[in-house]
Amino acid sequence: MAWSNWSGSVTAPAEVTRPQSEDELAALIRGARKVRATGAGHSFMPLCQSDELILGLDRIGDAIRISPDRKTARIPAGWSIKRLTAALWHEGLALANQGDVNPQSLAGAMATGTHGTGVDLGSLATMARGFRLIGADGEARWCDAATDPDLYQAQRLSLGMFGIATEIEVAVVPAFHLAERIEKRRWEEIRESYDALAGQHRHIEFWFFPHADHVILKTLDPCDPCDPPPSTTDMEETAFRRVLDIAAKLPFLTPWLQRGMMKTRFDGHRRGPAHAIFPSDRTIRFEEMEYEMPRALGLEALSEVVGWIRKKRLPVTFPFEYRTVAADDIWMSAMNAGPVAAISMHQYHAMPWAGHFAEAEAIFRAHGGRPHWAKRHTLTRGDVDTLYPMAERYRVVRRAADPQGKFLNRHLEALFS
Ligand SMILES: Cc1cc2nc3c(=O)[nH]c(=O)nc-3n(C[C@H](O)[C@H](O)[C@H](O)COP(=O)(O)OP(=O)(O)OC[C@H]3O[C@@H](n4cnc5c(N)ncnc54)[C@H](O)[C@@H]3O)c2cc1C
Repeated sequence: MAWSNWSGSVTAPAEVTRPQSEDELAALIRGARKVRATGAGHSFMPLCQSDELILGLDRIGDAIRISPDRKTARIPAGWSIKRLTAALWHEGLALANQGDVNPQSLAGAMATGTHGTGVDLGSLATMARGFRLIGADGEARWCDAATDPDLYQAQRLSLGMFGIATEIEVAVVPAFHLAERIEKRRWEEIRESYDALAGQHRHIEFWFFPHADHVILKTLDPCDPCDPPPSTTDMEETAFRRVLDIAAKLPFLTPWLQRGMMKTRFDGHRRGPAHAIFPSDRTIRFEEMEYEMPRALGLEALSEVVGWIRKKRLPVTFPFEYRTVAADDIWMSAMNAGPVAAISMHQYHAMPWAGHFAEAEAIFRAHGGRPHWAKRHTLTRGDVDTLYPMAERYRVVRRAADPQGKFLNRHLEALFS
């Protein structure tokens, strides 16, 4: 079956090839002219697209290896976040933070700077301590901050250009439980109090339908061990899908539909093991753009984008998601200039998105935003250089790791060749 990303907006003619061992993987890489790796295909940008070999790594590696001090674990790179967090939990360990969903592969999530939310919590890439890579020459090498600092720095957010990762050493923490609370709050109130609230919760985010006056606020805080009761908090997906299908046929009804939806009660609690509470199910397909804004400008940028959508009565049918991510020191991370407010803009997959995203992108860029690498953006090579002081060094390391450009596709060639 031909490859497609999760939203269906990026396709490739090739089937995914799933080697069962590193030797098989190395032989495939040696024999190919062009190679891309894919995890769960959850990226919206054409990162995994290839006319030739697309590799899936989920069959390589059958166990996690925990360090004697229990502060790190070596994890097969192709394992999903779901599989690896279950294995860690079995050992009394956890990831300090996770994103919204858990089907992504560890390698894929790290390669794009995937993050969750939390004032003091960085992206998954900040948890990487070392990588086992199969290079363009088919040779295996280990890289970490001590053995090969430049390759390690580049590989922390790699977009899959520096080799195929088969194992990643990750910082882990003792297992913990989380209590989730979901409630409806007025947008004006959250706009005033978000920063104070963010300091009071380990994780906080809100969802905001641009034509409504209320937001759905979600917080997660550590709690005593408990079994997870049945979930009561996921938004009623069937009803939402019905609303989206109406909006797709009659887009002018979008503002009215959203205000109607937000009259519903949003009130929920869940408790349980952290790895079971972090993720939600996402069964409704959408397209997404996300900009990481300097934290102090996030709410202002969101207000401006929402104001523009309201003024033009644009049928943007999905809510914005607003999260916070800590600063890091990763060369190509959108968080490397300071802490950010991460603003995600979504659109139902069956409705036009490119024009709306482009106009919002201009507003985000004007406020100093930088895009999430996996989500829709229109950066050029020049933009990359303007936004990332380390871009040229990153390219130098890429050229040394892969002189023939085996791991590049058209999208990456335009930005990083
Ligand atoms: C429903 C949904 C929810 C999401 N939620 C969040 C969220 O909460 N936070 C967030 O920040 N992002 C989120 N994302 C974005 C998502 O986390 C990223 O797109 C992530 O990269 C997906 O991981 P993947 O395994 O699907 O990788 P893919 O999309 O398959 O690949 C991503 C990149 O990783 C590279 N790669 C994959 N495996 C390897 C390997 N073994 N070696 C080298 N390179 C490799 C690929 O070549 C590619 O460049 C979401 C996306 C969707 C569709």
